[in-house]
Amino acid sequence: MLRIKCPWCGVRDQTEFHFGGESHISRPGPAEEVSDAEWAEYMFYRKNPKGIHYERWLHAYGCQQWFNVARDTVTHEIHEVYKMGESPLSSPKQSKDDAE
Ligand SMILES: [Zn+2]
Repeated sequence: MLRIKCPWCGVRDQTEFHFGGESHISRPGPAEEVSDAEWAEYMFYRKNPKGIHYERWLHAYGCQQWFNVARDTVTHEIHEVYKMGESPLSSPKQSKDDAE
C-alpha cells in the first residue's frame, strides 16, 4: 500500500485517495483548428512509462483536494508531491519512456 503525503493533510494511507490519471495534459485548441488525430491523442492516449510517472490524485476521504504526484512505476516510490498548477522540480519530460 502506498503512503501518500497530501499537501494539505500530511501522510495518509492510499485507501483515502483516488487515482486520477496522468497529469499535465493540456486541451488542444482552438477547437476549429484541432485535427481528429490531435483530439484522439488528447482524449485517449496516455503515457505508460517505466520510471517516473506524473499523475493526479484526489484526497477523496480527506480534504477533497486534487494534487500531483511524481511516482516511480517500478518501485512505487513517490519522488514528489505538488499542488495543481505548480510544476514539479523534475521535468515530466525526463521519464524513461520519453528518453527512449
Ligand atoms: Zn488532504
